[in-house]
Amino acid sequence: MLSFWELNSLVNYQYIIVGAGITGLSTACAIKEKNPKASVLVIEKGILPTGASTKNAGFACIGSYTENWADYERLGEDKFLQLIEDRWTGLYLLRKRLGDEHIEYINHGGFELMMNENGAEGDKVTKLNELLTPLFKKQVFYIVPQFINQFGFNADIVSDMVFNPFEGQIDTGKMMNTLLNYAGILQVRVITGADVKHIEDTPTGAKVYCENNGQQITFHAEQVAICTNAFTKHFLPDEEIIPGRGQVLCTAPIDDLKFTGTFHFNEGYYYFRNYGKRVIFGGGRNIDFETETTTQLEINQRIQNQLNYFLDEMILPNTPYTIAQQWSGIMAFNEQKTPLVKRVNQHVVVGARLNGMGVALASKIADTLANLMTK
Ligand SMILES: Cc1cc2nc3c(=O)[nH]c(=O)nc-3n(C[C@H](O)[C@H](O)[C@H](O)COP(=O)(O)OP(=O)(O)OC[C@H]3O[C@@H](n4cnc5c(N)ncnc54)[C@H](O)[C@@H]3O)c2cc1C
Repeated sequence: MLSFWELNSLVNYQYIIVGAGITGLSTACAIKEKNPKASVLVIEKGILPTGASTKNAGFACIGSYTENWADYERLGEDKFLQLIEDRWTGLYLLRKRLGDEHIEYINHGGFELMMNENGAEGDKVTKLNELLTPLFKKQVFYIVPQFINQFGFNADIVSDMVFNPFEGQIDTGKMMNTLLNYAGILQVRVITGADVKHIEDTPTGAKVYCENNGQQITFHAEQVAICTNAFTKHFLPDEEIIPGRGQVLCTAPIDDLKFTGTFHFNEGYYYFRNYGKRVIFGGGRNIDFETETTTQLEINQRIQNQLNYFLDEMILPNTPYTIAQQWSGIMAFNEQKTPLVKRVNQHVVVGARLNGMGVALASKIADTLANLMTK
């Protein structure tokens, strides 16, 4: 039973955000930036965020060349260009909001490793450059096979490489830490360990029913944003939201590591980067889609074996390394690979399904949600 004080001062807000990942926290900050006096509460079920935002690989990118080509073929020119613009704008907003030095944004450029016989397909690279140059004002993709040897990759497996100078890397932990600190400065209240069970529309706003260890509290807000990415089906069962687990490893420092930058192969299904002298390497869910369509945080040994194979044979051939850590995180997808950003009813909006590109997209989605909610 709530006290007079709790009912008066602690459960009613103008805005409630469900989910303290990068989308939820950025939405809360965007509301406060527009309206500093607004009361904003973020409710998170984990002690730390438990989705993707603290688990990802820290690529600040618009997607690799083959991934972009697949997006272009699937979406058509206009929607493809809109998606790339949203990713690029989102990265700009994230860097502007938090500062490059705080999120350790470093631009070494991004590379795609081609493993097919014919290497990079020049006509596709040319077409993408034609499409993207107006947005970036410069050429985006360059065919650069000379880096295969320079970076020490196995030239028997890697047939070609494509470079994108507009790609950077961040320190994901520092980014989330800075975002939480910034939310604190703006006086956003964040409650963790509170599982939102149900959101109910009422004539004056929405009731948000929370549970923690048998304790139940109902909060109320004029506007609620659902920012729960892969877990959103719980609230919106009719939406197309397919969970996808991503698996990542981090090596111990490697003294003679030959490369810096962010790297992709296989249409973005695999990705690796340097973190100082370490290698962070993830992906491989495409070899076991069925098992990886889950919201459970576990390690898949079959995928682990595949990651080990690529490390041993292709990325670090003849270089001894040890794996320091492994983890997994949960993403959300749909067939079109487009985010779900919309008003659900008079008092509830949703920003979810970031299709494995949330570092790029979240800040843009957050601004859209903040605009919808404060109208
Ligand atoms: C392994 C991996 C690697 C990735 N690498 C990259 C990358 O390099 N670059 C890139 O751009 N993107 C990458 N991504 C994707 C990116 O991390 C996500 O798109 C982004 O973090 C999504 O942010 P979000 O805030 O929307 O969702 P999430 O971070 O998943 O946050 C949702 C939050 O909602 C909370 N929640 C869920 N249900 C409830 C409830 N009922 N009550 C209260 N809280 C709830 C969850 O606990 C979670 O903290 C990667 C993802 C993974 C898993």
